[in-house]
Amino acid sequence: AQLTRVRGREEKIFVTVRVRPLSAKEAARGDVCDWVCTTDNTIAFEHALPERSPFPAAYSFDRVFGPGSRTQRVYEEGAKDVALSVLAGLNSTIFAYGQTSSGKTFTMRGVTESAIADIFEYIQRDSEREFVLKVSGLEIYNEVVKDLLASDNAPLRLLDDKEKGTVVDKLKEEVVRDVSHLQQVLKICEAQRQVGETSLNDVSSRSHQIIRLTVESHPYGVARGSPATSLLASLNFVDLAGSERASQTNADGARLKEGAHINRSLLTLSTCIRKLSGGSKTKGGHIPYRDSKLTRILQHSLGGNARTAIICTMSPAHSHVEQSRNTLAFATRAK
Ligand code: ADP
Ligand code: MG
Repeated sequence: AQLTRVRGREEKIFVTVRVRPLSAKEAARGDVCDWVCTTDNTIAFEHALPERSPFPAAYSFDRVFGPGSRTQRVYEEGAKDVALSVLAGLNSTIFAYGQTSSGKTFTMRGVTESAIADIFEYIQRDSEREFVLKVSGLEIYNEVVKDLLASDNAPLRLLDDKEKGTVVDKLKEEVVRDVSHLQQVLKICEAQRQVGETSLNDVSSRSHQIIRLTVESHPYGVARGSPATSLLASLNFVDLAGSERASQTNADGARLKEGAHINRSLLTLSTCIRKLSGGSKTKGGHIPYRDSKLTRILQHSLGGNARTAIICTMSPAHSHVEQSRNTLAFATRAK
């Protein structure tokens, strides 16, 4: 297969929505499903809306996936293109966005696994180029960055490098040989994240996880690092903090007193994404990447010459209708 290098193209963010099945617990308490995917692109509210409701009855995205959809399909139709563009030298990012327990980790785990399998398959078939793959994992909790491959748990600093942009100082990077080696490294990251979870009960709802796969390649027989023929890009798998951390208001619309509830990285990401994809009103101008750790780290993998996919996950349950509408509103702004 031929790799074509894409350059200087303004890409739209590829936005999809996945509704998970009703959980046994939700079903047992008589919760009902609110949403139905009426086409491959449209998700509709199942019940009649009151007259003059401020909410739309249906929303459209690049793809929507109902409760019966498999993760492999979510990957193929919602993330594969973006994932494989790393092989052509494009930085790319796949996000899972949604409230806690909506299926972010479930979906991102499956998407990562499928992407890795595809990437290694591609590399093995390519007889013209030699590839070097490296992986790193980090977590951002309360604007503190930690290495998921280090055991000491020390906070890491962000540095500005003239050539590379923002780099995470001392972040461990592991060279990976094959799929099973990479899976082993990901298991370490996951275990490290869970160690945190037992000491701080809701850390996974408050923290962001970034798994970064860096792909470097050059034609066989050509010196490594030769700028004319070498390609270097990273693919980021981002499992975001629960989106309820981005709402400024609680269910009654009252302002929350507890500042810790609001997640700076998530709010800044929302603003950056709105500006990157917004209509004439918000498009262009200053994009506040530097306002949070998450957006600084991802700056070169968002917007501009990068490719981005966002999978918004939501619960089908009526008890979560407000958060689901918030998620759909975010997804709409990201289109
Ligand atoms: P989050 O990371 O958004 O907090 P999880 O991914 O942990 O949510 O999902 C919450 C629960 O729902 C988990 O038990 C998970 O296995 C289950 N779940 C999530 N999405 C699906 C799905 N599409 N199909 C079946 N079970 C799912
Ligand atoms: Mg999770």
